[in-house]
Amino acid sequence: MQTEITDFLVIGAGLAGLAFAGDAAASGASVRLLDKGRGVGGRTATRRFGDLRVDHGAQYFTARGQRLQSLASAGLSAGWLAVWCRGLPLYKEGAIQSRPEGHPRYAPPSGMNALPKQLAQGLEVALSATVTEITRDPAGSGWVVRCADGQTFTGHRLVLNLPPTQLLSLAADLLPTGTRTGIQNVTYAPAWTLMARLSKDVPGANWPALEFEGHPVLGLLSRDHTKRGGADAPPVLVANGSGEWSRAHLEDDPASVQTALLAAAQSVTGPLAVEEAQVHRWRYAQPTQLFEAPFFWDSTTGIGGCGDWCDTGSPLHGGKVEAALESGWRLAAEAIR
Ligand SMILES: Cc1cc2nc3c(=O)[nH]c(=O)nc-3n(C[C@H](O)[C@H](O)[C@H](O)COP(=O)(O)OP(=O)(O)OC[C@H]3O[C@@H](n4cnc5c(N)ncnc54)[C@H](O)[C@@H]3O)c2cc1C
Repeated sequence: MQTEITDFLVIGAGLAGLAFAGDAAASGASVRLLDKGRGVGGRTATRRFGDLRVDHGAQYFTARGQRLQSLASAGLSAGWLAVWCRGLPLYKEGAIQSRPEGHPRYAPPSGMNALPKQLAQGLEVALSATVTEITRDPAGSGWVVRCADGQTFTGHRLVLNLPPTQLLSLAADLLPTGTRTGIQNVTYAPAWTLMARLSKDVPGANWPALEFEGHPVLGLLSRDHTKRGGADAPPVLVANGSGEWSRAHLEDDPASVQTALLAAAQSVTGPLAVEEAQVHRWRYAQPTQLFEAPFFWDSTTGIGGCGDWCDTGSPLHGGKVEAALESGWRLAAEAIR
């Protein structure tokens, strides 16, 4: 099915694609987003776990830039956002080390995917739309995108909000050489994530989450329920394997990963009363080597890219929610001129 030509087609409705699309639409351009997922938000993800919600991607975000601070203030006033904590203790050498209060860590009580849902309001998004092929429009005026189900979409300009490996597999030949080389140099760490529903909260814990340094298995432990209504919320623990451990076990079967992450978590917390558990594998969780610019944009052909793998200039953003948003906003400022 051929649909009408839009000004911008955006592949990927992660935070960067949504940030771009919001500004492009506000400028009067017609914009359509395509995403293979069943919802928007990509790695800023919340899963239903029985009657509970669990954040199994990003746990929280910080807002250091002015624009995200304004968005966060508006979210606090509107009630869809809350300050979860102001810093996380570190688990190191077998002990929990508290750290001074810092920047607010924001998390929506209804789940992290409330953030992309807010950004998607009013935008045209096609979900369950896995893009399999991108070609130049034979008429020479833009781009044709084909999805796995046979649908095609046409746009004058194209924005790619995909992790680099997926971006290159779809569009390597369509990029200027320097851009392609820059993207080929980006690297990512994977993450295995465990979600465990508990019948009793972690004994004696008063932390919302723990970060780990140098741990052989863990990168983070989160008492996810502490974002959702305090002491009465049914307890859920989220455990992320470290990048190194997750890479070493990337192709392991989920059951053995679950056992290993649960054992590692209990070596920190003591015995846990687990009612139900699941694991999720993020093949591209967080970038370890960034693209050297905040986005790319080729005005000759009208193709661009944005995402958390782009260097937005702040070491504090790198590979995080804030980097993804900044990258999308900055690409929009360039591409809609
Ligand atoms: C386990 C984990 C924990 C994290 N913790 C934090 C945290 O606490 N704080 C923080 O700030 N950040 C955290 N992050 C990072 C944060 O989630 C990301 O930086 C941010 O969500 C990236 O957004 P993005 O738009 O760049 O990419 P993505 O969210 O990856 O968006 C890309 C989109 O492209 C879509 N897509 C891919 N291929 C196709 C295709 N062929 N066709 C159509 N659509 C396609 C995907 O479905 C996805 O929606 C974490 C990430 C993970 C995985």
